[in-house]
Amino acid sequence: MAEGHAVHGMARRLRQLVGAPVRSRSPNGQLDAGLFDERVVADAQAVGKHLLVSAVDVPLSVHLHLAMDGGVSVRRHQRVLEGDYPRTEPPVHGNVAWRLLSATHLAEVTDPAVCELLDEDGVLALRARLGPDPLRDDAEPDLARRRVQSSRRPIGALIIDQKVIAGIGNVYRAELLHRARLNPFTPGRDVDDETFEAIWQDAVDLMTIGLGAGWIVTDPRQVAAVREALVRGETVPRGPKRYAVYGRAGKPCHVCGTTVRAERMGLQRLFWCPGCQHS
Ligand SMILES: [Zn+2]
Repeated sequence: MAEGHAVHGMARRLRQLVGAPVRSRSPNGQLDAGLFDERVVADAQAVGKHLLVSAVDVPLSVHLHLAMDGGVSVRRHQRVLEGDYPRTEPPVHGNVAWRLLSATHLAEVTDPAVCELLDEDGVLALRARLGPDPLRDDAEPDLARRRVQSSRRPIGALIIDQKVIAGIGNVYRAELLHRARLNPFTPGRDVDDETFEAIWQDAVDLMTIGLGAGWIVTDPRQVAAVREALVRGETVPRGPKRYAVYGRAGKPCHVCGTTVRAERMGLQRLFWCPGCQHS
């Protein structure tokens, strides 16, 4: 499943259409797309793993959640124009739920789990049921801290709970807790302020790097190299992915050599190192 950095990357790509009038279609019929047809795209935002797209003078937003199989593609095209729009529309391939065609770009949403229209109250209700998102400027980490510290549930279950922190998935969960040297079974109420703030700040830092790089970077040497490349405005190479614990059950921890363990916590397998994360 796309973690928050990837969804923010999709929003960033969709923002290439902001300010442009678009043809709006739903080839598979999943969305009532006519409301956006011949309208001007106003914004595309990510909130955790959700996307919200709005248009000028349209009272509803399109809400997308891509779950396991969904994707967003945005590409430039050079089609013959007739006024604001290409004279012909490109053929549809795959299960396209929403397509936006501007004079310069084609955006397609394929296989989303959710592709629906939300009114203002619906958007507020969505925002209210999500915790703060480390990649958003308006995030209030104190809200997440209070939700963690008022719970007896293990921190490994809490930081992947979208009501607590929005955007963290299974890879970031495992790697953030390992980098914090925190046992994932620690009850939320036993996580002190300093530890929570360190994890939050690390999430902000790593997910910002992940957004810039386009892949999840958590290995300390790779983090440093990718950060430098991003600061210099250079293209960041993709991978190789090197995780400390994620996906490495039965293998030695890169830090201490203890065998990495995996067990089910919530819907997914949690990876952790009993050597590094004993307290
Ligand atoms: Zn270890």
